[in-house]
Amino acid sequence: MAVSKSELQRRIQAFSDACSRKGLRVTHQRMEVFWALAVSDAHPDAESVYQRVRSRVTGISRDTVYRTLATLESKGLIRKAAALGGSARYDANMANHHHFVCTACGLIKDFSSKVLDDLPIPKTVESFGRIDASQVQVRGVCVSCAKRKPKKRRRSPK
Ligand SMILES: [Zn+2]
Ligand SMILES: [Zn+2]
Repeated sequence: MAVSKSELQRRIQAFSDACSRKGLRVTHQRMEVFWALAVSDAHPDAESVYQRVRSRVTGISRDTVYRTLATLESKGLIRKAAALGGSARYDANMANHHHFVCTACGLIKDFSSKVLDDLPIPKTVESFGRIDASQVQVRGVCVSCAKRKPKKRRRSPK
């Protein structure tokens, strides 16, 4: 689903600010890749980002898009969303937020919660290392998957 205009503007502004803070030039290519990721809250994989960028930037290669995503991620300008297996999914929403993950279709939805932001982290975790952030992943079955009729169970051939 597309994000609101104001949310998209917020993400793009935050991206430009972070780029200049980190001394990374906001090239047209980088902006297009970020835009393709930030324009929706679908947490797309690299291939979907590439498809979207390709429809706007003629001749851009898959390799360029994949490499740009990797660069942006390594610079902390986008994040990888923890998905349930499959290909890596990217997240342009750098604000504090949490995820609902559908275990059937892989949908990842953002939500915010002040209570979860302030979750007390057990002392044991501190002994593992420095804590920079925490993010809660709520797993379940999304509304549209729940509506879908359950597939008839086929007897597994053995
Ligand atoms: Zn689902
Ligand atoms: Zn997210």
